[in-house]
Amino acid sequence: MAAARELREALYRLVVDTVAARAPRRADVEAVNEAAAGPDLVPRLAEDGGGLSLRRPAGPGGGGAALATVARDAVTLLGGPLAGRVKECGNPGCSLLFLDDSQARRRRWCSMDRCGNLAKIAGYRTRARRP
Ligand SMILES: [Zn+2]
Repeated sequence: MAAARELREALYRLVVDTVAARAPRRADVEAVNEAAAGPDLVPRLAEDGGGLSLRRPAGPGGGGAALATVARDAVTLLGGPLAGRVKECGNPGCSLLFLDDSQARRRRWCSMDRCGNLAKIAGYRTRARRP
């Protein structure tokens, strides 16, 4: 659990630094690279309702492999062309980060069901209070 928390915090700082166009902290880069260096979860195909789906079952001692998989995904994301699409949620009360995969690249909320609807409701109430 301690390793998972350390990786989570390093990843969060790296993503926030990336979004803010700040130089990353060397310790965070090293922590992610170290976690990514381990063997990751083995991808497996599973038959799923007549189709196939990707599964990554954690075997014995799979915790470290799960962290390696997360770290490798982060390396691919932050070191690749999609890094510029990572954003912070537009809700000031939300600290979630998300990948804007919308075609127009104008997504503002981590989730429409969560923060987008809250913003719509707040906007409606503000407009309704005006005379
Ligand atoms: Zn949000």
